[in-house]
Amino acid sequence: MQRNPASRTNGVASHGGLASERVRDRMVDRVKELGVRDSRVLDAMRNVPRHLFVDEALASRAYEDTALPIGHGQTISQPYIVARTAELALEAIADPRQARLLEVGTGCGYAAAVLAQVFGEVVSIERVRALHERARDNLRGLRLPNLRLVFGDGSRGVEQAAPFDVIVAAAAGDEIPRAWVQQLKIGGRIVAPVGSDEQKLVVALKDDNGQLVRRGTEAVRFVPLRGGVA
Ligand code: SAH
Repeated sequence: MQRNPASRTNGVASHGGLASERVRDRMVDRVKELGVRDSRVLDAMRNVPRHLFVDEALASRAYEDTALPIGHGQTISQPYIVARTAELALEAIADPRQARLLEVGTGCGYAAAVLAQVFGEVVSIERVRALHERARDNLRGLRLPNLRLVFGDGSRGVEQAAPFDVIVAAAAGDEIPRAWVQQLKIGGRIVAPVGSDEQKLVVALKDDNGQLVRRGTEAVRFVPLRGGVA
């Protein structure tokens, strides 16, 4: 992947070498220690410059394994969570380069950039217009022709781009919305946090009868999935 040759990479590099591969490698080592093994995911994490997705004031913390605020009460997800979600999404997919993925909750666009390194086609929807636009700016310098950003309420999926092989969510609802199940291919998979006070990362497979077969994995903490747009 190319880095933005214009302003930010250079600016940030001068505050302490954030553009260097070493800091990114350290983040990936941490993600590995936490149990993510899929080399396609780890390579993608190594390729995407996370500091380009956070405010310059927070750039020095961009490679810590932690969520950070991105404004509008939202966060950039913890690197481990981005990696784990991508790994779980890949499990069911024979050829990810042929697969179409929907991400609900673009935020600043970081996870979308990681997912677009691994999956053939990525559609990412965000309900807060200012974040949608910011993600577009953040992603401009990276060459990702297979990533499409959509503004709207992702709890309705993205009908015009369906069906999807995989749907991943970065925001937690009480249930998996019906639209997601409808827009998922048979044999496809959803990876989404579910719950309010206590959330679980749920992996759900759409079986031959169109029913969701689900398993809960680990406890997680995501921002809430909200309806409508802002
Ligand atoms: N994927 C981001 C995580 C952003 S946090 C990353 O790479 O770090 C989750 C995002 O989901 C927030 O920006 C929030 O506005 C958005 N969101 C919440 N409900 C949504 C909905 N119904 N449709 C689309 N986006 C939604």
